[in-house]
Amino acid sequence: MKKQQNNIDKIMKVLIRKYPSNERTTLNRMRKKPNAFKILISCLLSLRTQDKNTEIASKKLFAVAETPEAILKLPIKKLEKLIFSSGHYKKKARTLKSVCKEIIERFNGRVPSTKEELLSIKGVGPKTANIVMAFAFRKHVLPIDTHCHRIPNRLGWVKTKTPEETETELEKVLPRKYWREFNAIFVQFGQTICQPISPFCSKCPIAEYCPKIGVERSR
Ligand code: SF4
Repeated sequence: MKKQQNNIDKIMKVLIRKYPSNERTTLNRMRKKPNAFKILISCLLSLRTQDKNTEIASKKLFAVAETPEAILKLPIKKLEKLIFSSGHYKKKARTLKSVCKEIIERFNGRVPSTKEELLSIKGVGPKTANIVMAFAFRKHVLPIDTHCHRIPNRLGWVKTKTPEETETELEKVLPRKYWREFNAIFVQFGQTICQPISPFCSKCPIAEYCPKIGVERSR
């Protein structure tokens, strides 16, 4: 356990230096001036797409509508057009409409701050709920997406099958001082170096600490 802890500290220090906070993803940058509703909507737009697409779709949408009421009033075709660049735009438009409706009807127009309430909204999953709690309400939670699930398993920090299990196990081994930055750093690291199919182990800054668990092919 002590050896693993040492390894986590070393890895986090290297990655924090490599991915400074001013180069973070759209959602992470939104933490500077947190608006819970916009963070929730951008998070829903970010599902299954790249960060640059999330940013374009979020900007276009918020230029026209930035409240649940305003989004609910938008004709569905117009909403689809505004968020087109985020991909899966038809499904996402329907999700946005229903999420806005629930926020107005069940929460008086305000995004709730607890996990239970957030998860009770149809279309909001554990990762989105944790992003909102962490970025909008500054709660100590670990938003786990595909990168945050895959990389700790490759590093041997956890041995898990689902992002939900990873969240539970990471909470036990990752010191709390790293929780706030963990998602931002691992998303960038996963997009650029520790990629899903064939990671760039030859240029990885933490290769010396990594047992590469489950990695069959690398570059
Ligand atoms: S050495 Fe390879 S598998 Fe390990 S963290 Fe780096 S890129 Fe990922």
